[in-house]
Amino acid sequence: MPQEATRPALEIVVFPMLSDNYGFLIHDPAGGETAVVDPAEAAPALAACAAHGWQLTHILNTHHHGDHVGGNLELKSRTGCKIVGPAYDRERIPGLDLAVDEASGADFGGRHASVFFVPGHTRGHIAYWFAEDYALFCGDTLFSLGCGRLFEGTPAQMWSSLLKLRALPDDTRIYCAHEYTQSNARFALTAEPENAALKAKAEKVATERAAGRFTIPSTLGAEKACNPFLRADQPDLRRRFGGPGVSDADVLGAIRAAKDRF
Ligand code: ZN
Ligand code: FE
Repeated sequence: MPQEATRPALEIVVFPMLSDNYGFLIHDPAGGETAVVDPAEAAPALAACAAHGWQLTHILNTHHHGDHVGGNLELKSRTGCKIVGPAYDRERIPGLDLAVDEASGADFGGRHASVFFVPGHTRGHIAYWFAEDYALFCGDTLFSLGCGRLFEGTPAQMWSSLLKLRALPDDTRIYCAHEYTQSNARFALTAEPENAALKAKAEKVATERAAGRFTIPSTLGAEKACNPFLRADQPDLRRRFGGPGVSDADVLGAIRAAKDRF
């Protein structure tokens, strides 16, 4: 086994903010560094750190939207933490210290996280993948049973972004930034009503939400089986949303447009 395998795993804490956002604390028990991913607000992030006795050292931002960077400046002034974010969007990330892209990756907690450039929701969106911890922080690109709205990108960009994420191992944990899973399930069932794995997942999600539990993280394996936005190249979805000669990206675009109207 490589020596890295003996390193203790990252501890990951999910905490809610605003109405339906999630922030994530990532803590390296060996070196003591703690990052928060996409802090919409400062106070819940500080409270989550305090609850674990952790000192915030980093912010990892996936994109510039206010519900992902709203806590940046207050957290930086209160803790002196370093802010890491997408190089392509450096001018839109408040307090950015370290601009990262696919070439640089991102160093945190004694690890080198892969950075994926995943435009579509916004033009500069990135995702962070901690390979040895099987953890993907994908912001508003991939949701459980959904994907982000195309505010600044095309269906072709979003499809190629989703394909990058779909190539990761099935047991990758998907830490997406919103609790949209139950409403996404309602749409997904109309998109792919014959999908038995989706039906089972939708029932599980309903039970979890009724009990007040988070549905995040999901796993990539579950999303590949159930999420219509990762399945735009599957025959049933192509039949319903595309047709002969239509590209997979256009099928994805048609599914996204149907969800926008749903
Ligand atoms: Zn967003
Ligand atoms: Fe968001």
